[in-house]
Amino acid sequence: MYLESLSNAFGVSSVEEDVRKIITEAVQPQADEWRVDTMGNLYVTRKARGNGSQPPRRVMVTAHMDEVGFMISKIEKNGRLRFRAVGGFDSRILPAKAVVVGPERLPGVIGLKPVHLLKGDQAHQVGRIDTMTIDIGASDDKAGGQVKVGDFATFATAFGRLGGQSRPQGDRGLVKGKAFDNRAGCAVLLELLKADYPVDLVAVFTVQEEVGLRGARVAAYSTDPELAFILECTAADDLPHPAEEKNDGIPRLGDGPAITVMDRSFIADRRLVDLLISTAEAEGLPHQFKRPGIGGTDAGAVHLAREGVPAAAVSIPARYIHAPAAILDLADFWHTVNLMRATLTRLPEL
Ligand SMILES: [Zn+2]
Repeated sequence: MYLESLSNAFGVSSVEEDVRKIITEAVQPQADEWRVDTMGNLYVTRKARGNGSQPPRRVMVTAHMDEVGFMISKIEKNGRLRFRAVGGFDSRILPAKAVVVGPERLPGVIGLKPVHLLKGDQAHQVGRIDTMTIDIGASDDKAGGQVKVGDFATFATAFGRLGGQSRPQGDRGLVKGKAFDNRAGCAVLLELLKADYPVDLVAVFTVQEEVGLRGARVAAYSTDPELAFILECTAADDLPHPAEEKNDGIPRLGDGPAITVMDRSFIADRRLVDLLISTAEAEGLPHQFKRPGIGGTDAGAVHLAREGVPAAAVSIPARYIHAPAAILDLADFWHTVNLMRATLTRLPEL
């Protein structure tokens, strides 16, 4: 499983090289063909094997490689780095977090005034992102010549297992790491490429999802698939809440892959949703639904490609996505792998 190396890799939208390199090396034994387009999308084809429809269906399965992060927008005279968000952030989570900056992966910290120096209710106020700075230890606007405006930064978080489990504990248990959205989807897609299917599988590891589904738009046009599945990581919200709050149908860790019926970007193809559900039931796999109407995925771009592409999205639930450390359940990861493998195998019946 590649979740650890993929989670630790640096890959803010548009600088996905490190992630693409790990995936490109991993797919060599399974790929009948592979290529990278001008935007950086990686296409890996695994031709149909076994008895399927003739000619075999061309099925695209995507997972985005990019993660949310920051772009350096200005180097101040005192050496502090101003930055802008790349993708969606809640500014409450940012102060005092460790980050890595630029191609040199310089360590840094998002600045925060210590509690000892605050007055009144300042401790309860959250600044806007454009008032924050990253401290890399520089003291002038040259910053040692190691950072440029336009460089990217992300959280400095190492993958790890929770619950005091010693490694290796097989394929069960909770893990924490950054960028599970969507390195978890990428790791599932890598597992899918290890098996045989009665369809031509075009696995596409896309770029720039977090800034507007940009890579997927190009990839779907280029692939011209008969139908598509989008693998994602979605927000779980299963911790105890104050009495007045409800979970309200948001996915829970351990309840299996979350199937999308509708989000802000698309309405899933009903035949594909029904196939996913009947496959999960036939295989005895848990599954749940993403709460309709929130979020968006690469499906939003893919289903509008060319003359339209029937599409469905399947997500691994994780707590605390778009933040320094998310948590997911490896049982959900493997249930997603197994659901997708069985669904791809049953596609000729559709
Ligand atoms: Zn995502």
